[in-house]
Amino acid sequence: MIGQLVDWLREADSSRLDSLWQQADRARRRHVGDQVHLRGLVEFANYCGRACAYCGLRRDHQELVRYRMTADEILQCAERAVAYGYGTLVLQSGEDFGTSAAWVAALVRRIKQQTPLAVTLSLGERRPEELAAWRAAGADRYLLRFETSNRELYARLHPPRAGEPATDRIALLRTLRQLGYEVGSGVMIGIPGQTFDDLARDLRLFQELDLDMIGVGPYLLHPATPLADPARSPAAPPSDQVPSSELMTCKVIALARLLCPRANIPATTALATISPDRGRELGLQRGANVIMPNLTPDTYRALYAIYPEKEPLRETADAGRAGLADCLHRLGRRIGTGRGDAPNFVARTGQAATPQP
Ligand code: SF4
Repeated sequence: MIGQLVDWLREADSSRLDSLWQQADRARRRHVGDQVHLRGLVEFANYCGRACAYCGLRRDHQELVRYRMTADEILQCAERAVAYGYGTLVLQSGEDFGTSAAWVAALVRRIKQQTPLAVTLSLGERRPEELAAWRAAGADRYLLRFETSNRELYARLHPPRAGEPATDRIALLRTLRQLGYEVGSGVMIGIPGQTFDDLARDLRLFQELDLDMIGVGPYLLHPATPLADPARSPAAPPSDQVPSSELMTCKVIALARLLCPRANIPATTALATISPDRGRELGLQRGANVIMPNLTPDTYRALYAIYPEKEPLRETADAGRAGLADCLHRLGRRIGTGRGDAPNFVARTGQAATPQP
């Protein structure tokens, strides 16, 4: 299995790749249909206590102006998501213990009481009791990328919080599942040191974890991070190093669709950043079925820079909406209705379960 995946990741023959794209697109249509679900993304705080080697939000990035949105500001974004017809609000932040678990729980409760939106949280590694409290408050889904299944590479890129032991994201993903969340994870593609074998094992782990959502995107260099210094970012030997490219990202999306056919898979902003003209469309044609339009207010948006965003993508939510409708029309796809729970989650739980706050 790993060998076959490596062969696909190394494949360069265009007719073979065409067959991969077609298989993935057929699996996408069969298992999750032609609807493209829209998730309104709100990056509500850029504080972070971690120092991941590739990330512009790392705590040591002193020049970055930090912000936390108020609950009322976030509620306004939720109202916009409803007005735009989105089924889900994704609340994302750095690993910010300055936002207390009680504050997040109260926020989730307000959103669930005042809107019909499903709520996805992406707040990093938090304690099991916090994750349980947010689930009880009504949070439906949780995103936590494991980034790479290579433990040595993971440890090099993700030092633990100051004075704390190393954490285990795979174990945390299992905890999220036990708590009843719809669970999403993913990896970065082409980070220095990542080999084809590593990436094939990542894909296999998606399947083993039986993920409901899978988000993958190319590694994009941020100049204010340690990885901007080649001496601190040793690549694998050239024949083994995975490239951070549009093609490699599309291969991983297609293979993820074939391995986890009932998962929701977004065409990510990172893919659209590396390929502004066609990244989002290619993702949707090669296995993806979700788009996450950014609803973060413009005043904060440029400050949530895990990697530098290209100007054309920093579109307003309104402009982005019009472009998206054109894009889906061209592809013969349609905007999804309702919450858009992953068929994988619905099948394994027997219901689109949402605890009432
Ligand atoms: S990747 Fe996440 S946890 Fe790591 S520094 Fe960036 S925001 Fe913080």
